[in-house]
Amino acid sequence: MAKKTDLIKSARKHIAEALELIDIVATMKPKKGYWYDKGSMSCRCSNCGCKSTKEFNFCPNCGADMRGER
Ligand SMILES: [Zn+2]
Repeated sequence: MAKKTDLIKSARKHIAEALELIDIVATMKPKKGYWYDKGSMSCRCSNCGCKSTKEFNFCPNCGADMRGER
């Protein structure tokens, strides 16, 4: 039978791995945004507020996905 200290050590390791995984998944999640303030020459990103001359599929500044439905 495993010692209590070994079980605790093992549990801590699993928790640390789980937390790491959460961080990875959280950062993988693509940012969503949309263009607003649309003019004939420019528009703005809802995510970072940067000005763009064109409605790109992805914001060239922050990389947000602009293709989503609203
Ligand atoms: Zn942006």
